[in-house]
Amino acid sequence: MYQGSVIELSQSALRGNLSYIRQLVGEGVIISSVVKGNAYGHGIEQFVPMAERENIRHFSVANASEAQRVHASLTRDSHIMILGDIDEESLAWAIEKGLSFWVFNPARLELAQALAHKIGRPALVHLEIETGLNRTGLESYHLPRVVELVETHPEDISVVGVCSHFAGAESVANYLRMEHQFTEFQRISQELSPIFSHRTLRHMACSAATLNWPKSRMDLVRVGIAQFGFWPSEETRIQFLLKNGQQNMDLIHFKDPLKRILKWKTRVMDIKEVSPGEFISYGNSYLAKRHHRIATIPVGYYHGFPRRLSNYGYVLIRGKKAPVIGVVNMSVTILDVTDIPGVATGEEVVIIGKQKNAEISVSSFSEQTSLLNYEVLVRLPGDITRLKVR
Ligand SMILES: *Cc1c(COP(=O)(O)O)cnc(C)c1O
Repeated sequence: MYQGSVIELSQSALRGNLSYIRQLVGEGVIISSVVKGNAYGHGIEQFVPMAERENIRHFSVANASEAQRVHASLTRDSHIMILGDIDEESLAWAIEKGLSFWVFNPARLELAQALAHKIGRPALVHLEIETGLNRTGLESYHLPRVVELVETHPEDISVVGVCSHFAGAESVANYLRMEHQFTEFQRISQELSPIFSHRTLRHMACSAATLNWPKSRMDLVRVGIAQFGFWPSEETRIQFLLKNGQQNMDLIHFKDPLKRILKWKTRVMDIKEVSPGEFISYGNSYLAKRHHRIATIPVGYYHGFPRRLSNYGYVLIRGKKAPVIGVVNMSVTILDVTDIPGVATGEEVVIIGKQKNAEISVSSFSEQTSLLNYEVLVRLPGDITRLKVR
């Protein structure tokens, strides 16, 4: 049932993004579509089949619950990799279903071995190496135990990957640290190579590294934000355009090779006239100094429309900017449509995305609120209807 707004997902935009990334990394590199955080707010159930239609056969998630949702949404024979925490019960499930998962301490590898033995299927593990992010990852002193476990239980443990994660690939300021991480990764994976098979995948790259640091791509790239048509940061975008022959181009108006696949829209629920001297919305944050025509929309901070956009943000109606007036409420926001003549109840309102020649990007949204692209997206509630469009 209608709960105020709709998120449309564009198959053709996704096709463009994935073929662009595919062409960049070449045929030999696996693209793992990272769909944690409810596919960055796009909706796992809707997004996974869309990505499979574009020949994605590898998905990454943060935990077993997300893995289960991806698993239930598959329409092809795709593989699922769990990057994060898993409890014992879910670990057994993952082994049974043939999912792979990251191992970042010997205790987890021991548990996986024992469960795999009981189940009678090998645990498909990716050894996560600590290279300098200092979050999770096997330390050097863990390695002898890891090697011993794999060597004594080859039928229970299959090392399908060796991996690590960069500490801030979206900024050149971190390149020295990343260079060091990359060197460490090469050294340690060399050291571990006796326990690898010909299938063992080496992987480190997230979107920013995939786009701007070709040598980090190795066998598999873990692409999250870029497949949805967003740059990990403005800096990543500028770096990419400069490196790819756009030195003499206008970097502001350059045609973006990535296209947003998400459009978030609602409709005007009511129109009202307000006289000068009246306050608009809760409290006294907006005092009308002239006659106003206001439009309400059934979307508020509960739906991920940031409260910080009170008296500050805008949405699109009839291809024009309609400013937010007064404070954003939990499930209603008030817009000033005084300067957009003729707006009527039921008209389309675009919160994120294009309308006529105007566009509200998530980044303009996030610049106004100082939230990351990533954060604005994942805050979109799961219960907003997601619709696939061409
Ligand atoms: C989230 C995540 C990614 C994807 O990051 P993007 O910047 O969205 O491409 C890759 N690897 C790991 C380990 C992650 O947690």
